[in-house]
Amino acid sequence: MARRIIIVGAGQAGRRCAEALRELDAAAEIMIFGAEAHLPYDRPPLSKSVLLGRDPGPALFVRRAEYYAEQHITLHLGEVVTRLHTQNKRIETAQGRSFAYDVLVLATGAKARGLAVTGADDARVMTLRSLDDARALQAQLAEKPKLAVIGGGLIGLEVAASARLLGCAVDVLEAGERLMARGVPASISRRMAALHQEHGVALHFNAGLERIEGADREVILHLKNGRRLAVDLVLVGIGATPETSLAAEAGLAVADGILTDHAGRTSLPDIYAAGEVARFPNPLRPEASMRQETWQVAQQQPVAVAHAIMGQEKPYEEIPWHWTDQFDCNLQVLGEPNEQPHQIERAEGERLTLLACDSDGRLRGAILINNGREATLCRRLIASGKGLDRAALSDIAQPLRGFL
Ligand code: NAP
Repeated sequence: MARRIIIVGAGQAGRRCAEALRELDAAAEIMIFGAEAHLPYDRPPLSKSVLLGRDPGPALFVRRAEYYAEQHITLHLGEVVTRLHTQNKRIETAQGRSFAYDVLVLATGAKARGLAVTGADDARVMTLRSLDDARALQAQLAEKPKLAVIGGGLIGLEVAASARLLGCAVDVLEAGERLMARGVPASISRRMAALHQEHGVALHFNAGLERIEGADREVILHLKNGRRLAVDLVLVGIGATPETSLAAEAGLAVADGILTDHAGRTSLPDIYAAGEVARFPNPLRPEASMRQETWQVAQQQPVAVAHAIMGQEKPYEEIPWHWTDQFDCNLQVLGEPNEQPHQIERAEGERLTLLACDSDGRLRGAILINNGREATLCRRLIASGKGLDRAALSDIAQPLRGFL
């Protein structure tokens, strides 16, 4: 009899897992449960084209409803899974229904972290995680409000850029000393700060919030440094937390993500984790684990999961990669550029490649600004693990491909 595989989570990772499973097994019964009523969609456009009012329409969903019907993938949209019974291999949903499984995949994703200050429950304080969030924010931005963005990370800066392009006045309040500190070295933070300032974004650093006061016509932000800022709308982008509650309640090993091996196997048999909720071995440092909230992980790691379910080994060992588009700048981050002692910048007009090497001269990470054409080369150089001559690397006249 065909196995029943239940996927909890109808985001990009859940969809990718179902697609890969169907390619490997024509007979398996595949069900996806999703809390949202929408078909699975990809998130990158939410903070960019959707906010700009250029909603990609059906393309956002990647697959149309007909695809799932043709592939015999059953979608239970708007049906929240409330409990896992791992002993007798069943799930329970908010509708009071119960479904048996042979294999369970948790692709539950992450949720936006909320601001833990008084007044953060004001309706004018928004977060951006889902398509409904993006459409609600877009409707507000179309009115050209004065916007405060809390958090100078990826969400905050992408929203700030979109809002400026729509003609809103924008202030970004970052608690730390620089932008995107988690992902890029200080020199890149400075470049991105300059880009935003050139476009009229007001940046505030060390700007922790004390409380929010919801007045009639405005929202007043009270900062810990005593300053006040009055705005019409607030967007909070201060990170995300993995949706691990179902897994933890069921007794799976969880520590900032569901702990898995390189193919999504969790601590319990026949249960896998896919996408950004999974914490897996870091391909660059096998002794460490990592969890990533990126398109790449949602796109590729579930394929490794599907292979493992089918008894095939296809470990997920991709070099970490993500990108962001802000104004006319495309920035790509490969590997772990932040952790390295040596940073070498190769600049050519508007293009920049920053190479981050360890003390043995091995390339461990790279940042590409408007220079995505060098991504494949950088990936290959990182994967090679070869010691490189740093002086030669800094000579822009020597093409990167010569170092392979
Ligand atoms: P993020 O990239 O981690 O950035 C959060 C920023 O908010 C950090 O700079 C953080 O500073 C700051 N912060 C934290 N608490 C704060 C506070 N109370 N007040 C002011 N600033 C505060 O998270 P995100 O931008 O919310 O995005 C959520 C997740 O989605 C992230 O994992 C992100 O990588 C992912 N994402 C990816 C893309 C992409 O790949 N293009 C786009 C959007 C989102 P410290 O670092 O000093 O704590």
